[in-house]
Amino acid sequence: MSNASTMTDPNLVAEMAIKEMETHGVAPTPDNYEFWFTHLSGTNPDLSREVDLLTQNGKVKDAGQLNTLRERYITQADKDSAMLDVGGRLEKELAGVMQMLETASKDTGAYGDSLNNVTAALDAERSPAELRVLMETLVAATRTMEGRSKQLEQRLEESKEEVTQLRRNMEEIRTEAMTDQLTGLANRRKFDDTVAACMKSAEDNETPFTLILGDIDHFKKFNDTYGHQTGDQVLKLVAQCMRHHVRDPLTPARYGGEEFALILPFTDLEAGVRIADQVRRMIESKELVKKSTGENLGAVTMSFGAALFEPGETIRDLIKRADACLYTAKRHGRNQVRSEISEDVRKMAS
Ligand code: GH3
Ligand code: MG
Ligand code: MG
Repeated sequence: MSNASTMTDPNLVAEMAIKEMETHGVAPTPDNYEFWFTHLSGTNPDLSREVDLLTQNGKVKDAGQLNTLRERYITQADKDSAMLDVGGRLEKELAGVMQMLETASKDTGAYGDSLNNVTAALDAERSPAELRVLMETLVAATRTMEGRSKQLEQRLEESKEEVTQLRRNMEEIRTEAMTDQLTGLANRRKFDDTVAACMKSAEDNETPFTLILGDIDHFKKFNDTYGHQTGDQVLKLVAQCMRHHVRDPLTPARYGGEEFALILPFTDLEAGVRIADQVRRMIESKELVKKSTGENLGAVTMSFGAALFEPGETIRDLIKRADACLYTAKRHGRNQVRSEISEDVRKMAS
């Protein structure tokens, strides 16, 4: 759809977006609409280029990858801008408080000056009338100060509540920006951060760290046979099985479309392979039933590759080694866990 770059009339774009969604059998959700509108308006050339690659003869070739694109370009961008928005409000609130404190400190200075003036005036001999004027000046300055501090106290209290609320919002948005919407697992961004942190900790403390990559077997065929939505249910099931065997909620991650990872700090290769194999066996044991029809869909299987972090290597090297083991698992018949030292872990474990 390269003619997207020429479309500027929003009504036309909106009409086209709805039509395209129908053509491609895309569910009419707000996220999907925003995705197609952005693509057709030509305001995001990178996104349009990728959608063009995914569509052929007016048909989407791979709905799963389209989902991944939408998550990357629309959902993630929304989360990022929401975070900036809350960050801006927090900064503004704090600037307001700083301003108030500055004014208050000037007021305190002025009050101190009034006190000094009165004290100096008392040194000289004064008539009762003059003394009364001085006392009245002092009382008035004190009252002003009292009023100001009450105001300040109240404003600080309000501000404290506002800041706490904003902080909470920011925390929620940050968590959301790191979470995969479909499965609730850590997303690719969180995966990158967590793996980097685990590598550093393994290097600093000389502890083992094992990375496992997993990929669902023949998932394309499953999607083609039973539909994308049923495919999504399988992704959720895989996530559940991973969570079941790994206690820390951040260590299982959705690495890509149908690719998952287990980030296992303080775990050597043997223990990592054992955990991956438990997950593998749990997935293979689940019988899938289509909710809408009750149809029995059999079971899905998953292949895994495990690599032990080697101090000094980059995150890319580590992923590449785990991926190579995953590829070996696929080549040797799938539904198994492979590592650089394993002959056939699946057979060994069963
Ligand atoms: P292999 O055993 O070699 O891994 O075969 P495969 O069919 O699983 O591998 P391939 O990479 O060809 O296909 C991956 C499929 O995953 C294609 C794509 O549509 C699907 N997919 C990716 N993301 C999603 C998603 O979010 N939802 C659904 N339902 N499917 C997805
Ligand atoms: Mg794959
Ligand atoms: Mg696959």
